[in-house]
Amino acid sequence: MSQNLWRPLVAVLLVIFFVNAFYSFTGGEAGETGGAISYSRFKKELTADNIKNVTFKGSVFTGEFRAVTPLTPAAEGQKGRGVKTFTTMKPAIDDPGLMGDLENHKVEVTAITTESSFLNTLVISLLPWLIILAVWFFALRGMKGQGAGGMLGGFAKSGAREYVPEKVGITFAQVAGMEEAKQELREIVDYLKEPKRFQRLGGKVPKGVLLFGPPGTGKTLLARAVAGEAGVSFFSISASQFIEMFVGVGAGRVRDLFATAKKSSPSIIFIDELDAVGRSRGAGMGGGNDEREQTLNQLLSEMDGFDQHEEVVVIAATNRPDVLDQALMRPGRFDRHLVIERPDWRDREAILRVHCQKIVLDPHVELGVIARGTPGMTGADLENLINEAAILAARGNAQQVTGDHLEQAKDKVLMGGERKVALSELEKQITALHEAGHTLAARLLPGTDPVHKVTIIPRGRALGVTQQLPDDDRHYYPRSYLMNRLVVLLGGRVAERLLLGDLSTGAQNDLKVATELAEKMVCQWGMSDVIGPVTFSRGEEHPFLGMKLAQEKSFSEEMAWRLDQEISRIVGAAEKQAEELLTANRPKLEALAAALTEEETLDGKRVDEIIKLPVIAADKNQ
Ligand code: ADP
Ligand code: ZN
Repeated sequence: MSQNLWRPLVAVLLVIFFVNAFYSFTGGEAGETGGAISYSRFKKELTADNIKNVTFKGSVFTGEFRAVTPLTPAAEGQKGRGVKTFTTMKPAIDDPGLMGDLENHKVEVTAITTESSFLNTLVISLLPWLIILAVWFFALRGMKGQGAGGMLGGFAKSGAREYVPEKVGITFAQVAGMEEAKQELREIVDYLKEPKRFQRLGGKVPKGVLLFGPPGTGKTLLARAVAGEAGVSFFSISASQFIEMFVGVGAGRVRDLFATAKKSSPSIIFIDELDAVGRSRGAGMGGGNDEREQTLNQLLSEMDGFDQHEEVVVIAATNRPDVLDQALMRPGRFDRHLVIERPDWRDREAILRVHCQKIVLDPHVELGVIARGTPGMTGADLENLINEAAILAARGNAQQVTGDHLEQAKDKVLMGGERKVALSELEKQITALHEAGHTLAARLLPGTDPVHKVTIIPRGRALGVTQQLPDDDRHYYPRSYLMNRLVVLLGGRVAERLLLGDLSTGAQNDLKVATELAEKMVCQWGMSDVIGPVTFSRGEEHPFLGMKLAQEKSFSEEMAWRLDQEISRIVGAAEKQAEELLTANRPKLEALAAALTEEETLDGKRVDEIIKLPVIAADKNQ
């Protein structure tokens, strides 16, 4: 913001400076002013016949003495000290004898009008407007430089800076994996390279491609690579930038963007977060809705308005395909859809390989192992992981980035950075117990994700973390898996109660996650025998705000009550199961907690060691 303000400020200061200069210039035209004297002194000099001439300008009199006149008593005796001219003010009271006196003493009298000339009047009355215009002008220029269009920039050309085409240097080689998507997009690359050939054959080339996928999976990267491969101009904007404070700006921006892109065709327009303008009409809430609809309509009409000879392809990305307006998908608009999934482990390995080119990597590192250990991570996460590892290596003055660095970086990305909080002995013990509960439940139940690591070093927002990683990428979740997940989530709290006979607030997040999971099982996935195979609009996230809101209920009050009952029954059942499990294996639980307190971090192998050795448990028991 301070960046935005300094330009107008400088403008205002400049204007003030010039105005001042201007006034002192016009004020100065009355001519030289001499020694300032009082009016009575002036009358005295007049009587003494020492005034040669006088000029009236309003109530200011200026004039010349006949002789050099000392102004101060101190200067009186000194020869040659004094002034030739004078200035004085006429008192407010009239001096009727003045004119007569002046005539008697043969003073030459001149008068200058105090009314300013027509030009002066004009300039002075226009000045405020000039100032406002100048400030406006500077503000516009300043805001445009800021990129997003800013407050005033929006009125002008929707922040023209955005629409400078970018020459992209990257190609498909820098996009790891995504073979199918690349294959599909090659057709577009060919078209952009040789549009004439396509037009001659009369083929219809898709003008709009929609990329669906979670954030960070490389949609922007892919779009840029298409531009890079084809060697065409690339215009990129986020749809949320279309919509700003002022109504009517969005549609204008869309028009500008398309006009600019057409001018430098062949080109690609990339619209990120299309759902910001493209969500179904009528799904909005409160204000700003009309604005979005206008913007959407403009977008639709621009896409319809393409003719055969305009080699512009629009690529848009969203992670909310479900909320998009159907009108966007019609033929001739975004009729080509590509789903960008989270990468599987092979693609993850390829992505790691691409990003490892930028660092000095220990040749012994097996990227395949890291790839297998990072299910669910997106390309952006993996890039971040490599970056963190490189930072760690640099901090440790290492020659190379090693497997160790990568492992630490993975922990940081998955569990958050380590925090330096001093925990009291008791807090440490509670945390160890709590995490031991999660870990043991996860370890004992069949079909759960293996425990990768458990720690009582505070990380991210948690005081301790039990990290489970699936063996392989999961695409669906069976009910038994979800039930076990609930048991693991409640294991922490149950362990606290079992061993300490008390509960702490540390389990709040577990409860929240567990309740949300149970809600989804009951209301969306039809996993409750009591409710049956039906799905309700409950537990869903809001179509475009990405959060839960009080939604219009599509079910009766009675059903709502039954859903509540069922959700708490399921969570309750999971807690009971956790309690039985941990009670039956109490020695192992205690052994785990003790080892955690001692060692602070245990990996999967160490956990197995501890819970398979009844000797340790027996020792601790006695
Ligand atoms: P999205 O647009 O889907 O949110 P981005 O394209 O902005 O994701 O991806 C963010 C970053 O993640 C990219 O700049 C790139 O460095 C990295 N990335 C994502 N997917 C890949 C991939 N398949 N190959 C290489 N890098 C990738
Ligand atoms: Zn917990």
